[in-house]
Amino acid sequence: MADRVGTTLNDRPGALEIMMQTKQTTIRNSVELSGIGVHSGAPVQIILHPANADTGVVFLRTGLQDGLSRRIRANWRSVSATELCTVVGDVETGSVSTVEHLMAAIYASGIDNVLVEVDGPEMPIMDGSSSAFLELLDEAGMVRFSAPRRYIEVLKPVRIEQGRGWAELVPYDKGFRLEVEIDFPTPVIGRQKKSLDLDLGSFRREFARARTFGFMRDVDHLRKAGFALGASLDNTVALDDTGVVNPDGLRWSDEFVRHKTLDAVGDLSLAGAPLIGLYRSYCGGHRMNITMLQALFADSEAWRFVTASQLSAEPVEAPQRVLAEA
Ligand SMILES: [Zn+2]
Repeated sequence: MADRVGTTLNDRPGALEIMMQTKQTTIRNSVELSGIGVHSGAPVQIILHPANADTGVVFLRTGLQDGLSRRIRANWRSVSATELCTVVGDVETGSVSTVEHLMAAIYASGIDNVLVEVDGPEMPIMDGSSSAFLELLDEAGMVRFSAPRRYIEVLKPVRIEQGRGWAELVPYDKGFRLEVEIDFPTPVIGRQKKSLDLDLGSFRREFARARTFGFMRDVDHLRKAGFALGASLDNTVALDDTGVVNPDGLRWSDEFVRHKTLDAVGDLSLAGAPLIGLYRSYCGGHRMNITMLQALFADSEAWRFVTASQLSAEPVEAPQRVLAEA
C-alpha cells in the first residue's frame, strides 16, 4: 500500500503516510509556470522535470552568458546569500534567488527528486506565497520509486542566537514540527506565534497561501539597491505606519507569522532530506534558518541519516496499519 506507484497528487496519500513516506518520489510530468521576479522585476519561466531517485532537488539555471547553463543543488551548502530571500548558487557564475516558496511546496508535497529549470536569476514570485507552486505540483502528479527515502533525524539540541533572535533544532519523534514566533514593533504585526506539524493537509490549508510582506518605508532604498523592482500589491503585503496597504487586506490576521513559517519550511528543506525534529525560532528569517542548518551539520553527533524502516516502531508502523485498513 505504501508502495503505490503512480499515486497522483489528487488521490495522494494521507498526511501520516507522507510524513513517514518510505520510498522516494518524483513528479509524473514536466510542468511549467511563468511570472516575474520580485526583486529583478524581470519575466522568468520555470519548468519542473521528473528526476531519478537520489537526485534530490536540483536547479538547472539556463540563460547564462554564451548560452551556458548550470546545475545547482538545492542544498544549504549552495546558499550564497540570505538577505531578503534565499539564494542558491554563485552570483557570478549562475544563481537562483527566492527559492524558498517553491522549496516549501516541494517539501510539503513529499517530492524528493525534481529538476527545476529556470531561465533567469530569480524564481517567479507569483502571489508572494507557495500557492501557485502547490497547484503546479498537483498538475505534475507524483511517481514513487522503489528506492528508500532517507530522513535526517535530529539527535540532540542545537541552538543558535543572532541579535535578539534565536533558533533551535531539538529531537522530536513525531516527524517534523515547526514553532515560529515573530515580534515586530508595528501594531498590525506585533508578536505572533504559530506551530506546524508538517503534513500536506495543514501546510496547504493554513500556510501555503500566506504572502510575503514588506514595509513601504523600505521600498525606496531597496529599489535604489536594485531590489523589490517587481514588488507590487499583487505579490506582497505592504505595510505603512497605519497598517496594511493592500485594498483586500490580509488572508489571516497572523498571515505574517504564517509566511515566516512557510519560509522556514523552504529554507530547512535545504537540509537535503526531510527532517525529523522540532524547529523553534524567535525573530528569525532566512539567515537564521540557514545558520541553523550549518550549526546542525557542524556537529556530527547532532544528527544522523535514517530510513523509515530504521525509525522507532511507533511512528513508522502506526500509519501503515491505518492504511492497511483503508
Ligand atoms: Zn518568503
